[in-house]
Amino acid sequence: AAKAGGRNRYQFFAEDMNARLRQRMSLETGLRAAIEHDRFRVVYQPQDDLVTGAMVGAEALLRWTDPTLGEVPASRFIPVAEEAGLIVTIGDIVLSKVLAQIALWRMQGLVPPRISINVAAQQMREPHFVEHLCELLERQGVPPEAICLELTEGTLMTDLDQTAQILSRITRHGIAISIDDFGTGYSSLSYLSRLPIQELKVDQSFVRTIADEAGNRSITTAIIDMAHALGMTVLAEGIETGAQLQILKDRHCEIGQGYYFHRPLSSAAFATLLAETSPAMH
Ligand code: C2E
Ligand code: MG
Ligand code: MG
Ligand code: MG
Repeated sequence: AAKAGGRNRYQFFAEDMNARLRQRMSLETGLRAAIEHDRFRVVYQPQDDLVTGAMVGAEALLRWTDPTLGEVPASRFIPVAEEAGLIVTIGDIVLSKVLAQIALWRMQGLVPPRISINVAAQQMREPHFVEHLCELLERQGVPPEAICLELTEGTLMTDLDQTAQILSRITRHGIAISIDDFGTGYSSLSYLSRLPIQELKVDQSFVRTIADEAGNRSITTAIIDMAHALGMTVLAEGIETGAQLQILKDRHCEIGQGYYFHRPLSSAAFATLLAETSPAMH
């Protein structure tokens, strides 16, 4: 019986592996087709000043709808894109779309707040990433202050010397850097004082339980104080309730992003919001 059980377990495992592999392969095939047929779009989630309530930024988030798979969550396809070596191409598509969109809004007389763009490790380490980015900005006539790059702890920690070089070139051009998903990656903190970083994003996992778990509340308080001591602005992501918001305000967190304020918006819906909040044009 033990032997049969073992074989069943093995078969189950093998079938599971096959299903996963097939799923991964269909995602990869779908991504290649999406690149070819321009099936990506970008949505924008506002980032609000917690004191004044003004929209001070927005995060650009990639969306992909496949003709057969339907809408695939970014949390599923981004890791596949990274493993398949497609993230540099896809990241470039995001940069082009976002910069063209900012240029269009500005041409329409709208005043978009600073737009944060997620950048993957592989993308940041491309040999001419900074030059390429500056070229795109120039071509679209978008000033470097109009954007911010979100990099995760993992991206920043790997090869600290190279990271420091790249970041100093980016910030020298006037482009801001934000650490995304802070608190979920590495335990070493010494890199924080060695890199030119303007903003720290407290990961959603802390915010989610901040009203219920004293431990997470303490950690979040410590993260906010540390960021402030290092001269960074703090943004809390994933704010869903008024209780979470109040706790973060009490701790002097400056900016918030989450469903409590806004879901990510289509570019058209975001433009409508901009038109409502932009200073009157005449
Ligand atoms: P992220 O950069 O940490 O983005 C925040 C995620 O939290 C987004 O998920 C956003 O829709 C979601 N979110 C915002 N507010 C709330 C809230 O109140 N509650 C909850 N439960 N979620 C909230 P999304 O758009 O599915 O993206 C997931 C991840 O995929 C991103 O996490 C980022 O790591 C990656 N990603 C998205 N777009 C890009 C991109 O253009 N390039 C790269 N490299 N990665 C991207
Ligand atoms: Mg992000
Ligand atoms: Mg994040
Ligand atoms: Mg994330």
